[in-house]
Amino acid sequence: MASARQIHVGDVPIGGGAPVAVQTMTKTETANLTATMDQIRRVADAGADIVRCAVPREADIEALKTIVVESPIPIIADIHFNHTLAIKAIEVGAHCVRINPGNIGGPDKVAEVIAAAKLKGTPIRVGVNSGSLPKHLRDMEFTNPVEALVTAATEWVELLHRLDFYDFKLSMKSTSVPNTIASNRLLAEKIDHPLHLGITEAGTKWSGSLKSAVGLGTLLADGIGDTIRISLSTFHAEEEVKVAWEILKALKLRERGPVLIACPTCGRLQFDMDSVVMEVERRLEQYADPIEVSILGCAVNGIGEARHADFGITGAKDSAMIFSKGEPLKKVRTEHLVDELFAEIDKYYASGKQVVVDAGAAAEAALWLAENEDDTAMTPERLAALEAKQAEADADAIDEAVSPVTGRRFTRA
Ligand code: SF4
Repeated sequence: MASARQIHVGDVPIGGGAPVAVQTMTKTETANLTATMDQIRRVADAGADIVRCAVPREADIEALKTIVVESPIPIIADIHFNHTLAIKAIEVGAHCVRINPGNIGGPDKVAEVIAAAKLKGTPIRVGVNSGSLPKHLRDMEFTNPVEALVTAATEWVELLHRLDFYDFKLSMKSTSVPNTIASNRLLAEKIDHPLHLGITEAGTKWSGSLKSAVGLGTLLADGIGDTIRISLSTFHAEEEVKVAWEILKALKLRERGPVLIACPTCGRLQFDMDSVVMEVERRLEQYADPIEVSILGCAVNGIGEARHADFGITGAKDSAMIFSKGEPLKKVRTEHLVDELFAEIDKYYASGKQVVVDAGAAAEAALWLAENEDDTAMTPERLAALEAKQAEADADAIDEAVSPVTGRRFTRA
């Protein structure tokens, strides 16, 4: 279950009930200070709470000295194989250091890193990956990969506890979504340290986002996980941050920026909804407030399920309507739809979050809606509503005709 312990990476609390922190990793050579700082600023603007930088060389340590001072968000130094670099990263002020004890050179080297971390008050992320398990667990990796990951993780936790060190979080990553889910569920029952979640080498923006949403979403919905990183094969680290936020927003774990709702479209669609949705999504990125904006492809449903949206549009061939909280606001020409929508949103903010209603325009819009609405049409939304109602009724009723025990009644003496 959710971790009881809390650590702080810089000023960001992780675990112990803190909001799930979003992190990503720079894709630049850390030693290239200009490029790295540029990417760090972009991911911070996109909503990253923390960012990790790879530190494989001495030159990266030099750059790290400046990065930890200039970065707007805390920096985690990512170290493999070289415990000396881990110690140096701690000494130059990294806000956290990520090590994989399985490849850092054995328990003695881990102990040296931990001694430096204690001295400086630096938290550690222990990263266990299915691809770099300690030698004695490699056979188990083939027979029981979940057990192998959890055993590796708990062995490192025991080592850190023996070193009297508790200021750490843990990650167990696998390229397999089911193994990541199963191992983190198991580990969450065994330890109370914060957990960092991710699917390692998840893939491209499309498949990687889906795998991460399934794997991390399942765990987060269970209450497991304190910080997340989406690993995508893209040089634009801010894309990882955007996906992480969409997962957290979908689960209502955190709020950031507007929520866009759009119908899936069907044969009733009469305007170029694809480009409208993309344009609305692009323009909404400029807004920080969590307003809900809905786009319906036709007016046949009326405002329907978008009744709760702060703002919405419903379109037709030549004209469309803008609405707010289920009430028509304005009829507009389809080619002006997006501009007019944002004009209404901007008026709302300019008047202190009050929807500005022009009675004449609203009446004209209501008339347009009445003319275009068709409450006899079987739209996907109405079919779904009917199916839901039927399912509810079926749950309460026993259908004698389709029952496998028709005509038989059983009584218990
Ligand atoms: S019927 Fe529903 S899915 Fe089809 S275009 Fe209209 S709003 Fe979209």
